[in-house]
Amino acid sequence: MTDVKEYLKQLEENQREKYPNQPEFLQAVAEFIGTVEPFLTKHPEYVEKNILELLLVPERIIEFRIPWMDDKGAWKVNTGYRVQYNSALGPYKGGMRFHPTVNQSIVKFLGFEQIFKNSLTSLPIGGGKGGSDFDPKGKSDEEIMRFCQSLMRELQKYIGPNEDVPAGDIGVGAREIGYLFGEYKRLNGYHAGVLTGKPLAYWGSLARKEATGYGLVYFVQHLLADKNDSMEGKKVLVSGSGNVAIYAIEKAQELGATVYGCNDSSGSIIDEEGIDLALLKEIKEVKRERISAYLEHRPQAKFYPNTTIWDVEFEYDIALPCATQNEISKESAATLIKNGVSIVAEGANMPTTLEALEVFNEENIIYCPGKAANAGGVAVSALEMAQNAQRLPWTFEEVDQELNKIMKNIYETCRETSMTYLGEFDLVAGSNIAGFARVAEAMVSQGLV
Ligand code: GLU
Repeated sequence: MTDVKEYLKQLEENQREKYPNQPEFLQAVAEFIGTVEPFLTKHPEYVEKNILELLLVPERIIEFRIPWMDDKGAWKVNTGYRVQYNSALGPYKGGMRFHPTVNQSIVKFLGFEQIFKNSLTSLPIGGGKGGSDFDPKGKSDEEIMRFCQSLMRELQKYIGPNEDVPAGDIGVGAREIGYLFGEYKRLNGYHAGVLTGKPLAYWGSLARKEATGYGLVYFVQHLLADKNDSMEGKKVLVSGSGNVAIYAIEKAQELGATVYGCNDSSGSIIDEEGIDLALLKEIKEVKRERISAYLEHRPQAKFYPNTTIWDVEFEYDIALPCATQNEISKESAATLIKNGVSIVAEGANMPTTLEALEVFNEENIIYCPGKAANAGGVAVSALEMAQNAQRLPWTFEEVDQELNKIMKNIYETCRETSMTYLGEFDLVAGSNIAGFARVAEAMVSQGLV
């Protein structure tokens, strides 16, 4: 019989040798592989069938040129990606990210995590991810439109409602999805289910915009309820100020917590009276301004230029990282501990470095990994696909209730799975094992394909 520890070590080493220039991907793989030994020991059939090695290789990676013209008539070019990682559970599903840092390592780590996240939702969706190194910052609406059209002219060859269903991520919201959808429709006809996160005017789902942030707070709410506690009176800091952050703040406030601060890439704000969410929405969703604009209306707030919110000294209970990967360094983790934080729940994908994670473990911080805690976004995307297939929109309350149910189920599944396999509460192991179990079972049943 194969030694499971040795098998896993070998798999990880193979990936390191093959992809030395993909640090984010290797990080996601290391975090995953480090937790699945107890599961594979109880299921030697998956080791025998080498399921994990198969799973590590994306079914397909598409990399393509995106030529586009700026407002001055200059010819520009960016690189587009789509990783169709695993389709055992359904059509590839996952967002598109527009950010200058996007490369193969980033889309592969995101796609890899998406497989398990989507599996945890219990909905019929496989794992995929994509994006471009295009920087939307400072671009006009017309430039965004031309870029999206050019991207879709190529991507449309590879996607479809039953094949691969992209959505938004960093830099991609309803505006971009609208332009992508328009181009797809022009080329292929009205296939509403080819993209999710669509505008509400045509086949979008109510509560999709809110879903990731709301789902994150629901997850924490269920965790707290387990300890006869609630969000009421909790002091919270959130990183980011995009879609995930804004709706995490909204739900946290609604449940009686106070959110004191958030940030963007230019710096952090702390408002001792609690964040004025209407103002934040106006700045970020309507005017698309920098976060420092908050101070023009709330002069009592403090601004920390070029400082992440995790490095600010401030006493609070719950940290909700909702910005981007690796935003919490080892040093930031130490500051969080000093600040009195007891729960870290990830709205972003892999915002915690492996070193920071070690600090949290040593200090017994309750840590909720993104693949479980931020699954609400993709879950409601799958509900949008269901509504599109039914040709019937659901009410906000229906979608929201379903979202809450899904988040409760994910939390309980992760808790139970970690108790079963480790005999202790560990949401990282719980989410990895529970997510993997469903995919592995599906892969075996479908044969070697
Ligand atoms: N980008 C989101 C995520 O990281 C949502 C993906 C989707 O809705 O397909 O899960």
